[in-house]
Parts: sequence; C-alpha cells; structure tokens
Amino acid sequence: MTDQSPTWPLAPNPWEPTGGRPAITIRNVRAICTQPEGIRLIVVKIETSEPDLYGLGCATFTQRPRAVVEAIESYLKPMILGRDPNDIEDIYQTCYLSSYWRTGPIMNNALSGVDQALWDIKGKLANMPVYQLLGGKTRRAATLYTHASGKDVSEVEDNVRALMARGFTHIRAQVAVPGYHTYGTKADPGLPIQQPWNESAYVRIVPRLFDHLRTQIGDELELLHDIHERIQPILAINLAKDLEQFRLFFLEDPFAPEDIGWFKCMREATPIPIAMGELFVNQTEWEVLIKDRLIDFIRVHISAIGGLSIAQKLAHFCEFFGVRTAWHGPGDVSPVGHAANLHLDLASTNFGIQEAHIFGDQAREVFPGTPEVHDGMMWANDKPGLGVDLDEELAAKYPFGDYELMHQDFPPVRRIDGSPIRW
Ligand SMILES: [Mg+2]
Repeated sequence: MTDQSPTWPLAPNPWEPTGGRPAITIRNVRAICTQPEGIRLIVVKIETSEPDLYGLGCATFTQRPRAVVEAIESYLKPMILGRDPNDIEDIYQTCYLSSYWRTGPIMNNALSGVDQALWDIKGKLANMPVYQLLGGKTRRAATLYTHASGKDVSEVEDNVRALMARGFTHIRAQVAVPGYHTYGTKADPGLPIQQPWNESAYVRIVPRLFDHLRTQIGDELELLHDIHERIQPILAINLAKDLEQFRLFFLEDPFAPEDIGWFKCMREATPIPIAMGELFVNQTEWEVLIKDRLIDFIRVHISAIGGLSIAQKLAHFCEFFGVRTAWHGPGDVSPVGHAANLHLDLASTNFGIQEAHIFGDQAREVFPGTPEVHDGMMWANDKPGLGVDLDEELAAKYPFGDYELMHQDFPPVRRIDGSPIRW
C-alpha cells in the first residue's frame, strides 16, 4: 500500500459564492480624514463592484491618525481587495491574524474601519438597519449620559440643571480643582501649558461636589463621575468609599489598565458600581474583570478594540456575568462610530448606558444621518446599514491641521513636582 498525499484544498474557499448568488467584490478601500469640529476623525470607505454599494466604518485614533491611515492603506487594503464583503468574520480574522503581533490601538482602529464598513454594507444588502442583523431591537432608543462641569460646585449645579431641562436623566459631574488642571473641566486660561495636577486636592473636592448636588438636586438624578485613571490606586479606593453615600450610577476608570490587579481590593472595600475600559485594546484586559465580576459596566472604545464584530462578542460575554455595556462615546468617535455604538445598544439585552457626544451642524452636514439626540436618548434613523453617510466634498473642506501642533491638543499634565502623569 502506498501513501497518498491529500489533495488540497479539500473544500473551496469559504468566500466563494454559493447557491447561485452573484459575486460582489471589494474594489477599493480608502481612509478618509476630516475634522469638521476640530477633532481629527478617520472613516474607512469600502467600495464594491456594485456601483452604488459602499460601507463606512470608524477608525478614529485621534492622537495617532497617520499611523492608522498607513495601516489601512499599506496592509489591510491589499489583503481585502477582491474579497466578497459579505464575509465579515473571515475578513476580520484574516486581518486580525495577519500582523502576527496582534491588537493595539493602531491595528485595532484600522481593523474597526474595515469591520464596521462591512457591517454597513451587509445591512444595505439586506435592506435592514444593522441592529436587525445583531438580533433586533430590544429597546426603542439608547439612554444617554452627558457631561456637566464647572469652576466650582455652584457652576456644576447650574450646568446639571440645564442638562436636566433638556431631558437628560444621567449626568457625569466633574468640578475644577482651583489652581490645578482637572480632567473633564475647562482648563484655567491662567495656567501654563504644562499643567499642574494635585491628586490630594482632587480627592478632597470631589465628595464635596456630590454632597452639594445631592443636597440641592435630590435623589432622582443619576450621577456619574470619571477619575480618568489619574490618581494612585489606594486614593481611588478611598475616594470610592467617600462617594458611596451619594449613590452614583457608576464611578469610571478608577485605575489605569496597568493597575487592573487593584479591582479585587476595590470590590472588597466598597459596593460602588464601577465602569472600566476606555483604554482597553484586547481581551486579556477585560476577561478577568468580567468573569470575576469585578466591574459593573464595560466601556471600551469600540474602534480601539477592533470594531463591531468583537464588541458584539464582548457584549454577549458580559451578559453571562451581569455586566452591562457603556461604550465610550466622546467627540473623537466619528458619527459613524456613534451609530455603531447605537446599533449594538439597541440589540443588547445587557445595555447599561451610552455616553453622548452632541454633534454640531458642521459635523452633521459632513455626516448626514448622524443619530439624533432628544429626550435624553439617542435614536437610530432606521435606514439600511449604519444609517450614516459621508459628504466627501464637504469633508475635504475640513482637512487635518498641522501635526506638529499635536502636543498643543494634548498638553502634558504634570505633578506639582514636575513629573509627568497620565492625562
Ligand atoms: Mg472616561
């Protein structure tokens, strides 16, 4: 008996059309850069062999945009030209594995642009909004939280009341620490560009803010606060204990991703609800926190973890452990990315809350179909796909500014002794 070598491949490539379905192929992939309201945004546009069929996906990494554009155009585009855009999971896995060293915000954002654009295309092919493809609506709209800040507790209260009057039921409150730079508040124009930070002053003033808000506004409003990983872990635990009495909806990012080992100590010290994850980029960072029930809300930045495909898996994983979603939703997520957040919010039974960014007219003109915000909620427009388009001519009127000025957008924050800290 002689050995017979197997004949490869045993089956046709999975992306080859079956059942008589006409082949649709990806004919172009472009990274489009625009900053209509002064924030650098990157959107991937995937064009197909069907003349009017294209998809858009958010790839915004506003601090390192050139690196993401290069990753898309030099590495991902050549891999997916000619592929069938229907094969989202296969394209995702192929791109994800192709660099050998995986994840990281640059490759993940590039991958997200492709992934979300493919979901957009699939929705258009199905003539359905993406939330239908994710399982269908389990709520009419996504409840939002937005931000109030001020130079003192009275100004924060005024801003909270103004947001309540607009229908917001969940509000993140941040107050300035006099004389120092404070995350989430307007910088004091009198401060130098290398702004000083004083963590002791910060942990003293925050409980005073929430005491004031609960006393003046009452118990019904849901209040949130973001530590933004700025203080020593043990100070974060003490601050959480001090804030426990004010019944926060959640306390955000008490630790840096590098300090996730502290979450067990936090859980043992206080039952305050914890939201974590806007800087996470891979599953090793969130897996333990979820399965050990050490956090209450996962709030990753969907494009920074690789897009809608992996975010849906993460949402489902969280569901089994009673962890709710609170996807990161700042101004440096494009309207396309906010739509991706929203479609997943609508389809997730364990949705918790969505962070809002209110886009102005300029951004809404560049991105027709940007989700509407009213009554404290975000509403999908029910068009096929993600429901957001891009006016490329208008987008080109808002080119990126001078990259050499990047450090002025994100000035270093330093302790009062001059040493640098996370901003
Ligand atoms: Mg945050």
